[in-house]
Amino acid sequence: MTAPTPHETTARGLAHAATLAPYAVTEAASRGRAYDEAAPAYRGAFQRDRDRIIHSAAFRRLEYKTQVFVNHEGDMFRTRLTHSIEVAQISRTIARALGLNEDLVEAIALAHDLGHTPFGHAGQDALNACLRDHGGFEHNLQSLRVVEVLEERYADFPGLNLTYETREGILKHCSRANARRLGPLGERFLDGGQPSLEAQVANLADEIAYNNHDVDDGLRAGLLDVETLSAAAFFREQHEVVLARRPDLSGRKAVHETIRAMINRQATDLLETSRAAIEAARPGSADDVRGRHEPLIRFSASMFEQHRELKRLLRRRLYHHYRVHRMSMKTQRIVKALFEVFFDDSRSLPHDVQRRIEERGGGEPERARVVADYVAGMTDRFAIAEYRRLFTVDALT
Ligand code: MG
Repeated sequence: MTAPTPHETTARGLAHAATLAPYAVTEAASRGRAYDEAAPAYRGAFQRDRDRIIHSAAFRRLEYKTQVFVNHEGDMFRTRLTHSIEVAQISRTIARALGLNEDLVEAIALAHDLGHTPFGHAGQDALNACLRDHGGFEHNLQSLRVVEVLEERYADFPGLNLTYETREGILKHCSRANARRLGPLGERFLDGGQPSLEAQVANLADEIAYNNHDVDDGLRAGLLDVETLSAAAFFREQHEVVLARRPDLSGRKAVHETIRAMINRQATDLLETSRAAIEAARPGSADDVRGRHEPLIRFSASMFEQHRELKRLLRRRLYHHYRVHRMSMKTQRIVKALFEVFFDDSRSLPHDVQRRIEERGGGEPERARVVADYVAGMTDRFAIAEYRRLFTVDALT
């Protein structure tokens, strides 16, 4: 990656850095952007990243992409957009309390799911299977691909030209094979280093957000009930605390108060455990953090265990619920069918997608990747509409 770009040390960045802890990421220590740019007058570099993410087409499409429930199943459920906003909100609270860079953590959180396929994990599994012979499909890597290559908005560079630090945070997981191809961004997956504390915060805020909102959505959908959830000690205890304080409370308010208490407990535990770990390790800079082999942002051992128990319960009782499973099967068939029809006959693709295949040489691996990009970029409802257009005789246009 490029050397730090001093001209992008902004007035906002300098003023902001003075308020941050020594282990926070600062603009002055940034590894910069792939393409140098003049500094913005009234924003910091990471604010600019955040703004570009919000203006991207991929961000808008998150509104119509599944978190757990397919978008058309109801207007009350989380989508990837509202999920990302919740992750950003939890991340910012924790970052601010720890003296970390709130602008950066917000950018990472808002971008972390940009590469998700339609239909959530079912869609990604289907696409990964379709690409078995062509390098596979990883949604984290796809999020990076969206911001580095696929967004077409700016005259002077491909993608969004985000800072190294935002891209580092977006790439939460990565296989070793893909890490080898990524240069500096992939190094930590090969040598066991860590990303910035901001990236670590966004990662665990993601877990706090989805565990809790999936409880809420699962209850709302009628696939979970309080009794089922009470098998997890964390839910049961928080529910009891709420009812001890307000025995008159029932229904949705009791559930919301329980979820509110769970988020609060988890965020507080994460914050306090991490603060103690940071004080013990005394990292002097963001690079000190990166050189460590263990993350410093973490839950206490007991909270980690409670969190995992709830996660296991959600997997068994919600993600593997027969009604969710049926929808997963259906949507996997849609993704597989779309991939296959486009891959086998690229003339059925829109002209601009065909052109992208040609530009990349037109071989089989290139075709597979461009088709995967096209399918991954679809919203739930667009994928369903494309499927109808391609496979039913009453929808020929
Ligand atoms: Mg997420």
